[in-house]
Amino acid sequence: MKIAILSRNKRLYSTRRMVEAGEAAGHEMHVIDTLRCYMSMVAHKPEIHYKGEVLEGFDAVIPRIGASITQYGTAVVRQFEMMGVFPINESVAISRSRDKLRSLQLLSRKGVGLPITGFAHSPDDIPDLINMVRGAPLVIKMLEGTQGIGVVLAETRKAAESVIEAFMGLNVSVMVQEYIKEAGGADIRCFVVGGKVIAAMKRQAAPGEFRSNLHRGGSASLIRITPEERATAVRAARIMGLNVAGVDILRSHHGPVVMEVNSSPGLEGIEMATNKDVAGMIIKFIEKDARPYRTQTKGSKG
Ligand code: ADP
Ligand code: MG
Repeated sequence: MKIAILSRNKRLYSTRRMVEAGEAAGHEMHVIDTLRCYMSMVAHKPEIHYKGEVLEGFDAVIPRIGASITQYGTAVVRQFEMMGVFPINESVAISRSRDKLRSLQLLSRKGVGLPITGFAHSPDDIPDLINMVRGAPLVIKMLEGTQGIGVVLAETRKAAESVIEAFMGLNVSVMVQEYIKEAGGADIRCFVVGGKVIAAMKRQAAPGEFRSNLHRGGSASLIRITPEERATAVRAARIMGLNVAGVDILRSHHGPVVMEVNSSPGLEGIEMATNKDVAGMIIKFIEKDARPYRTQTKGSKG
């Protein structure tokens, strides 16, 4: 098969591993810089141009879209979809997962366990918003933050009020969340591919830190997850419409709660912690599932 990897940098671990795994399975792998794709919108003939050439003949596309380029990146993925190329994650699902509020709304509608979460616009509603999530300590999150940046633990009600007020004053949307203290600074990353958890790791925050992100100094190790955690991760990925997802779960007193669902989960931490060939499993999923025009984005088949 001819497979495109949309990535800004072919030296990144995840990108390199995907190229390696694809080539080992006999596929033709092309790393394409997302921001160098440009598109023409002509009736019935969607095209993507890249460094002076027209991209043609691809069977599948692996989007690795960074949070800073979500809008342009998903437009490129959508263009591939209109050309009939199978995306491992669809553009709509990527956009959906990038908005933490929208994601939690969808998950709550389907009854997935979540930390109690609140969202408000007016500073007048801050006191009651804090009551809604059962008071301090609580976690304040920017809606489009990533890698732990924009996630704040407010220990007291006073601190929470002033931080939320500050964000609102800057016109930054935040949500407020029950602090799952009993998780002890650890979370579980479940790596879902094609409706199965194919690998899982525990991430433990550095001492004195509550955020377990590897980018924030967290450390990864192997973990056995419970059947309930496994089922929760699989459901969360399905609800988001993601074939490949990193579902982050906290162990709370009220069972597993989903914190977020990532559409471009990194491979380095999970492959190191579990010694599994995650890249190879993604390639196998493509081999099994890739069909032209299998997305919600309908394009011309002519
Ligand atoms: P990001 O998208 O920046 O990774 P997350 O929502 O995943 O944002 O939060 C970052 C980290 O902060 C999580 O991995 C987790 O360790 C910690 N964290 C987030 N929300 C909570 C919470 N409600 N209770 C306890 N810890 C949390
Ligand atoms: Mg996270």
